[in-house]
Amino acid sequence: MSEQIRVRFAPSPTGPFHIGGARSALFNWLFARKYPDGKFVLRIEDTDQARSSRESEENIKKALKWLGITWDEGIDVGGEYGPYRQMERLDIYKKYAQKLVDEGKAYYCYCTEDEINAEREALKKQNKMPLYQGHCRNLTPEQIEAYKKEGRKPTIRFRTPENQTVEFNDMIRGHMSFDSNGIGDFVIVKADGVPVYNFAVVIDDALMKITHVIRAEEHLSNTPRQAVLYQALGFEMPTFAHISLILGEDHTKMSKRHGATSVEQYKKLGYLPEALVNFLALLGWAPQDEKEIFSLDELIEAFSMDHVAKNPAVFDINKLNWLNAQYMKKLSSEEITMMAIPHLVEKNYLVKAIPQDEMKKLVKFTSVIRDHLSYGAQYLDYADLFFNDDVKIENTEAENIMHDETVEPVITAFKEKLAHIETFDAEHIHPIFKEIIKGLKVGGKKVYMPLRIAITGQMHGPDLAGLIEVIGHDRVIKRIEKIMASLQ
Ligand code: GLU
Repeated sequence: MSEQIRVRFAPSPTGPFHIGGARSALFNWLFARKYPDGKFVLRIEDTDQARSSRESEENIKKALKWLGITWDEGIDVGGEYGPYRQMERLDIYKKYAQKLVDEGKAYYCYCTEDEINAEREALKKQNKMPLYQGHCRNLTPEQIEAYKKEGRKPTIRFRTPENQTVEFNDMIRGHMSFDSNGIGDFVIVKADGVPVYNFAVVIDDALMKITHVIRAEEHLSNTPRQAVLYQALGFEMPTFAHISLILGEDHTKMSKRHGATSVEQYKKLGYLPEALVNFLALLGWAPQDEKEIFSLDELIEAFSMDHVAKNPAVFDINKLNWLNAQYMKKLSSEEITMMAIPHLVEKNYLVKAIPQDEMKKLVKFTSVIRDHLSYGAQYLDYADLFFNDDVKIENTEAENIMHDETVEPVITAFKEKLAHIETFDAEHIHPIFKEIIKGLKVGGKKVYMPLRIAITGQMHGPDLAGLIEVIGHDRVIKRIEKIMASLQ
């Protein structure tokens, strides 16, 4: 029988859910889903009590569900290897820490933080590695007694074996090896009894029978410590895969400076989960053909850790916008309008419930502008076209166009024709432009541009006939008259 594939996503609930975390979750999930009985576990690493919150945990769960990433075991759903929140597992860590102490593989360390910091600073000044120098490695019972009397609370420190080569295999980076002398003795349980990440993660991954640890590259430097702990505890090491960093377009580490960084922000901006998942999958993983649009099912089928790149992935917002636009094409104008409504409310374009006929118009307006939208919040760039009759000419170039001698006759002809139109819709408005071109013997630009500017203030934009239809006859005329008056 082949081994059951078990992976986990183990976020620390310490703030907004970063898209890098979502990508790690996705890669794990895709990897698990490739196997009929593969399992994806969600574990919460909340040992940093000062920074962890239930609110952040809730956000992570909500974001994962929104993206379509479901977990087979973990918080909320339970499972054979729970509890799945680290702060609920303290007894387990304690037991293993004690085992290491009993076997002489770990020891109580009574050094204070100040002492440790001073030692570190001194070593740095001498250009030496700031590793613990082993003060408490071999304390006598008398020394221990004395420290206890002073009221010092000990940490538990791992006795890292010296002069060893620490090795592990990384699915992305290949064979990795480190010198154990570069690790030094490190704390595994803090003075308050809470384990540090490197200790808890090893115990959890081992007890939860995790077969593959797929996580961000920034944890690569932790892996040697984890490797020596696996050895000391007699646990079998999982296979590791460290996925590369996500860089901003300027090739520095992705951060707030680069714009939105959390899943929540992208959701709020009106990106679709299918598009974000598709985009995240392509951040580091390269499909084997030209295909770029993948549903979750297609991703499961096509994804392979063999084609996850070693070099950093660059977050290309234009690509995300393009992908999102592709997915938006599949939505109805009603659906896109619903996406836009919270944004319109936030910016006071909508202040009360919209009556049904207004809603119909708004949906119609959506159908006119939708091809220009890459994500929901972009609706706001176009909202004035529909909501704001206080039109202003956008710049002097547009203003100059309006001073051309053909403008007046074009506007007059347009108003005249609009007044006698058979049906007031885009289909019947379109031919009017052509008729004016013919009647006045002017080029198309001399008709479209001034009319567009007179109605919207802008030189370019969505289909003019469609806009005129949704704005309606009276408002269009009012806008034109206002702009024309402003030119005198
Ligand atoms: N709690 C760690 C983090 O959020 C996870 C590390 C791991 O996957 O091993 O970065």
